[in-house]
Amino acid sequence: MINFGVQYYRAPFPEDRFWEDDLRRMKDAGLNTVQLWVLWAWVEARPGRFEFGDYDRLVELAGKHGLGVVLSTIAEIQPCWIHREVPGSEMINQYGHTQVSQNRCECHFGITPGGCTDNPGVWERMAAFLAATATRYAKLPNLRGWDCWNETRWNVDADGIVCHCAHTRRAFHAWLEEKYGSLDGLNRAWKRRYGCWDEVLPGKAAAHPYTEMMAFSHFLTVRANRHGAKRFDVIRAIDSQHPVTLHGPCPCSELAWTPTPLDRGNDWAFADHLDGVGCSSFPKWFGVDDADFGLRIDLVKSAARGRKVWLSELQGGRASQGFAVHKPVDALSQQRWVWNGLASGADTILFWCWRDEVFGPESGGYGIIGLDGLAEERLAGMRMTGEVIARNQTLLNGYQPSAVEVGVWFSPQSYYLQHAQNGQTGAVAAAFHGYCRALVRKSIPFVALEEEHLDALDGLQVLFLPRTLVFSPDAEQALAQFVEQGGTLVAESECGAFIPQGIYRYPSERMLARLTGVAEVGRRQLPGEQVAAELDGAPCAMGLAQWVTPLERGRGRVLADHADGALLLEVPVGKGRVVLAGAYLGEAYRAKNTQGFEDFVAWVARTAGVQMEVEIVEPLPTDTAFLYTKHGASQGRRMVYVFFQEQHAQAHLRFKAGFFKSDRLTDLISGQQHALTPGPGGSLELRLLCPTWRFAALVEKG
Ligand SMILES: [Zn+2]
Repeated sequence: MINFGVQYYRAPFPEDRFWEDDLRRMKDAGLNTVQLWVLWAWVEARPGRFEFGDYDRLVELAGKHGLGVVLSTIAEIQPCWIHREVPGSEMINQYGHTQVSQNRCECHFGITPGGCTDNPGVWERMAAFLAATATRYAKLPNLRGWDCWNETRWNVDADGIVCHCAHTRRAFHAWLEEKYGSLDGLNRAWKRRYGCWDEVLPGKAAAHPYTEMMAFSHFLTVRANRHGAKRFDVIRAIDSQHPVTLHGPCPCSELAWTPTPLDRGNDWAFADHLDGVGCSSFPKWFGVDDADFGLRIDLVKSAARGRKVWLSELQGGRASQGFAVHKPVDALSQQRWVWNGLASGADTILFWCWRDEVFGPESGGYGIIGLDGLAEERLAGMRMTGEVIARNQTLLNGYQPSAVEVGVWFSPQSYYLQHAQNGQTGAVAAAFHGYCRALVRKSIPFVALEEEHLDALDGLQVLFLPRTLVFSPDAEQALAQFVEQGGTLVAESECGAFIPQGIYRYPSERMLARLTGVAEVGRRQLPGEQVAAELDGAPCAMGLAQWVTPLERGRGRVLADHADGALLLEVPVGKGRVVLAGAYLGEAYRAKNTQGFEDFVAWVARTAGVQMEVEIVEPLPTDTAFLYTKHGASQGRRMVYVFFQEQHAQAHLRFKAGFFKSDRLTDLISGQQHALTPGPGGSLELRLLCPTWRFAALVEKG
């Protein structure tokens, strides 16, 4: 079942006078699901007394109008009584300050950050609320699922890094003991001489020895992962039928702006335990273009590894923050986001939200039916998609994106290290997203590989390692084996220069130097803004960032050079090869698109033998526009999604021999039939005019 729905109730708004009419209109607009925020503070305004009357009425109205229900359990908006009932439960920041709670800008009633969930008294009460909610609605006939944690928030409105309370510190020490076996084990790994656990302090600030700051950042990620799992467990124990997912504010790789990186958890770890993961997306608010939107869904899908992917808060109407007037949301963009999500395998789309908000800085914003002047065209767009989904539920529900051969390495430890260095994680995040973005713009399907989830290496031909400062021994072993067996690794400057405890290794001692026989000669100032490379005779200019670390010459093929060594070097290893860059190419590309970097990424894939099943003959990407395809299959039939931009009048696509069984395609959106024509080498070709909605969902004849 594809859930195509919208967030509605964030108690106490909208008021009940709107409910009946709004839910009827949602159904008329082609939506099939409504989401309700079940807020702990609101439901249990007095300790032990749960009041669900308003929710009972809303779920009944949803049933009456033929809408499914997704319940979002907002346990992080804690009751006003929490610190009275659980004395001393306040979080403590790194300066020892007790955190004063208040109501949050997105919630009219209830406090945040509230009590620390490492305090058993807080967690027991939170779990009781989750259990009461699950018990009340598990058997609801129109229940579609649970979003058990919204944007994985827990430290919002805290001042600095939390939590340093006694409970959390004990949990930190227990985690270290689990990891290192004992205090002696920790002392050996950290090269310290602690006499007892109390002496092992959590990291407080950047620009000190990296060790404890990295450890504490890592711990906070794990702590969030475990909290998500605990929420899931409470609901699962009561409801074994419906999916229980959660969603972050963004893919976790973008959690570089939080007090410590990934403090709201790691999507891969969540997907280990929950039924799925999702993320919020407000593309018009944050200026997210098609490439960045495409990659964020690909990242959530990568983490989900076959579990559910939810687009949990997709921008409904114009954003409002304070009195800023943000861009309106047009129907073409909005439906494109929906179909981009479906093309990546999402099965639930939930807009934020139906009606413009009425309280706080968000008032006057976000509603699908809101007053930015485009509500009618948005509703028409919803009806179009709603009808296509309703007609093709089975086909769309069975859709699975194609397998991929290209991977991008995601290293949270490198985030922790970068943050421990200067308190900012942007450079590592930019490098990672730079590679992903180039692949999206080249329509090269890819998967992101998280450093502790190595299964996805199977089947890959190429793995990019953007600004991977830290390697664990397990990762080193897996990557060395990957190359020996025929894979291509692409590494950047100082790859694996640090161990997970934050200690530096000399160039010749690093895994890639051992593997290739080539070491870096050391850090050098940037020789200019760009490096000129030659890739099989074709010139290629790429941007540079931070520094260069030239590579010893003598082995392999030099693709770009520097006075002190090679800047780009291709070295055969076993049945595979390593492409070493003594520079940060992805980060520079993230700051400024260069054709050269995209050509480099495509060259690596091509020379590694990656078979492009769908080739875009034209139009080729320009600085401002790129045609975008995604593909997969359902019920044994191939499906290809094509996303045009306004500059594009038509597309010429080529499909690998054997890709399709039929030479006829139907566009689910327009209903048009298309005939494929023979192309070179047994391939099939399609010339497609840009359709009205600027995207096509093509399925081959069954
Ligand atoms: Zn705490």
